[in-house]
Amino acid sequence: MARFSGRTVLISGGARGQGAAEARMIVAEGGRVVIGDVLEEQGRGLAQELGPNCVFLRQDVTQETDWAAAVAAAEKLGGGLHGLVNNAGIYIPKPLMETDKALFERHLAVNQTGCFLGMRAVVPAMERAGGGSIVNISSTAGLRGSPQAIAYSSTKWALRGMTKAAAIDLARLGIRVNSVHPGPIETDMIGIWTNEHRAKRLGSIPMQRTGTAEEVARVVLFLLSEESAYMTGAELSVDGGVSL
Ligand code: NDP
Repeated sequence: MARFSGRTVLISGGARGQGAAEARMIVAEGGRVVIGDVLEEQGRGLAQELGPNCVFLRQDVTQETDWAAAVAAAEKLGGGLHGLVNNAGIYIPKPLMETDKALFERHLAVNQTGCFLGMRAVVPAMERAGGGSIVNISSTAGLRGSPQAIAYSSTKWALRGMTKAAAIDLARLGIRVNSVHPGPIETDMIGIWTNEHRAKRLGSIPMQRTGTAEEVARVVLFLLSEESAYMTGAELSVDGGVSL
């Protein structure tokens, strides 16, 4: 199946983890990918692995100028910018009383403002391409309460609302906006969990296991592709039943 034949997708925070899995699958399906990330070595390595249909650039999602450069790189790659995955994120878990203003605002800057800037940055290019699909990576922490995650949760709930507001604003331009809500996924992000915390979290998952980056990527590719042509403003959980 070549759902992405010649089409270009921009993935923020795509040097590793879920974003990297999505990049691999899109290129395998004939698409082109621009990966932005602050992790330069891993990003360059992935671009080298994927060949001429993948470009890496250093991108800090909190910087509007970095978004402009990423969109320019996507249009240069050719085929038109048809997709954006707002995937970059940070997760530094602390309970409410150990979360200071700086930590709270750092989460807002990367997870929430980064997503806002990304959606704004791609719209003109997607209009030039004749339409597009934006996928915002939220979390089950954006659907329910999550332990030790006051700062992270606030941003992931915000992404859910921002997705629906943008979906309404952009529908007339042929641009769809949906959110994906992963549960615990085996990437470096949850490598910081202690064994005790991990056991507790595993116990709360009906399917009794964590997910893989590829399991999330398959859902993201569905939302990026024409297979989901009549879906906008939707939220899809990929979580082994955590949010039930
Ligand atoms: P990773 O940490 O592997 O990927 C996130 C990437 O974003 C990292 O490469 C990270 O770099 C990068 N990043 C951080 N800050 C910025 C920035 N300012 N600009 C650009 N890139 C940045 O984890 P995942 O692949 O798991 O995470 C992908 C998304 O999925 C995130 O939005 C996360 O919140 C969400 N998610 C993850 C879950 C999980 O259990 N893994 C569960 C639910 C949602 P660096 O390492 O330097 O910070």
